[in-house]
Amino acid sequence: MDRPVSIHDIRLLAENIGEAGLERDITVSPADIQVVLSDVDVSVDEPFSVHYEVVRHQETFHVQVDIQGCIHATCARCLAPMDHRVDLHLESDYVPAPSDMTGDLEAQRVTAETGFYDRDIHLGKYICSELVLSLPYIYLCSETCKGMCPRCGANLNEGPCLCAKEVDPRLEVLGSLKTTR
Ligand SMILES: [Zn+2]
Ligand SMILES: [Zn+2]
Repeated sequence: MDRPVSIHDIRLLAENIGEAGLERDITVSPADIQVVLSDVDVSVDEPFSVHYEVVRHQETFHVQVDIQGCIHATCARCLAPMDHRVDLHLESDYVPAPSDMTGDLEAQRVTAETGFYDRDIHLGKYICSELVLSLPYIYLCSETCKGMCPRCGANLNEGPCLCAKEVDPRLEVLGSLKTTR
């Protein structure tokens, strides 16, 4: 078990990865995941598990990452708390950066599948940005969530609210007209 300071800071030194490749299992603390997801309105209270494998083909590194965990979010329709399971599989090749490429190599990645390395592979940054990108734009507790009553705010998944039983006052007037005739 490796315990890096933060998931974002995982860097693999290219010269340390031989023909046999590399494989690691990491447990990432909820606080560390919460930092990664600080711009997203969710909370995390369980550790995430991250597994990665690196295989070398001459100058190219093929990396596979599996990330599993659970985040707490709020349903956009009924506002009920809900869990969103993260089960993410990533694969990327890392090729040597051209000599004129400097700075943040991960930011200059061509596609999600091809990145660059110099002395090291900034795997942590790749994992963090792909994790954020994998999250839904809108959380729904279920595809069929009925949402909230616009009048009383009741959660309609728990059954119809009292508003639904109220008779329209215009119909009540009609009813009384009938009885007087
Ligand atoms: Zn809902
Ligand atoms: Zn209602």
